[in-house]
Amino acid sequence: MSFRRLRELLVLAASLVTCVSCAGTVATVSTDEEDEPHGGVQWVLTAAEFEALSLQAYRAASDFLEAAISDNDWSALPGQTDASELPPAIIFDIDETTVSNAEFQASYEPPFANSKLDDWSNTTIATALPGAVDFVRLAQAAGVELFFVTNRPCEPKAGVDHPCPQEQVTLQDLIEAGIETDADHVMLANERPEWDREKVVRRNLVAETHRVIMLIGDDLGDFIQCARSSPRTPCTNTATIASRREATWNHRSYWGAGWFILPNPMHGSWTTVK
Ligand SMILES: [Mg+2]
Repeated sequence: MSFRRLRELLVLAASLVTCVSCAGTVATVSTDEEDEPHGGVQWVLTAAEFEALSLQAYRAASDFLEAAISDNDWSALPGQTDASELPPAIIFDIDETTVSNAEFQASYEPPFANSKLDDWSNTTIATALPGAVDFVRLAQAAGVELFFVTNRPCEPKAGVDHPCPQEQVTLQDLIEAGIETDADHVMLANERPEWDREKVVRRNLVAETHRVIMLIGDDLGDFIQCARSSPRTPCTNTATIASRREATWNHRSYWGAGWFILPNPMHGSWTTVK
């Protein structure tokens, strides 16, 4: 089975899972090779519905902003208490949350490699998710500090004498997309030895100095720890479809009220859980 075909089937599986309440509807996916790229990528690239969902998420975040700032007892991080004296911060993911790489998803030759995304980013002007830039500017104007926690990893690169060549590319992507930030606010995987792909470690570091008022991402791992099929420190358990749904339900008070999620049917930790 080709990688592309496997991804088609995963998208179909996801659509069935997410549509359990859609009585009377029939989930379909094309098996026609002429329909490449696969449905998820095609949807992101062409569907106005994708744009509407992104605008909806950022509109909801905008509407939540003032209350989140003014309520000193509020934190979007479960377990963060006694943060009332700390300045407010928002933690964003980057890919498919603030910056789109859907065009890359449509064009790269499988299998995926971080270096391929890196090279593509290096040669392409980044575009923002619909609504992201307006929200970022609103939050910045309100005095909120913004952190960008991404699982783009620091990896050595031939001919580049820097421990994390990807940091500059990632920072440049944000700036190209219209988001003003700096290297101190962009946190890549492996940038420090303890920063594995499990993002809770980096979220907790931000929480040492800031009251985290919102999380914005496209992957369950942007919100909930231990959401991956291959656990990374400090997680030890393998996430499953059932465990991820249970964790999502158990945190239901946060969705749309501190946690804002963007749709991503193209890739993510959901694709490898069973
Ligand atoms: Mg992402």
